[in-house]
Amino acid sequence: MGVPKRKTSKMRQRTRRAANRWHAPQLSTCSQCGTRVPGHTACPSCGYYRGRQVLTIEA
Ligand SMILES: [Zn+2]
Repeated sequence: MGVPKRKTSKMRQRTRRAANRWHAPQLSTCSQCGTRVPGHTACPSCGYYRGRQVLTIEA
């Protein structure tokens, strides 16, 4: 049966778990209206994405 040859070090174990740890989503600034918007997302306040109107915003 396959058995690990070496003991997993604390650093290696922590590095592995750090990859799955939750962190707050990265927010970028909308180039059109300047509000904070998560990446790869159309701006909810002005409806722009990559310098183009993609959503119709009411009111
Ligand atoms: Zn915007």
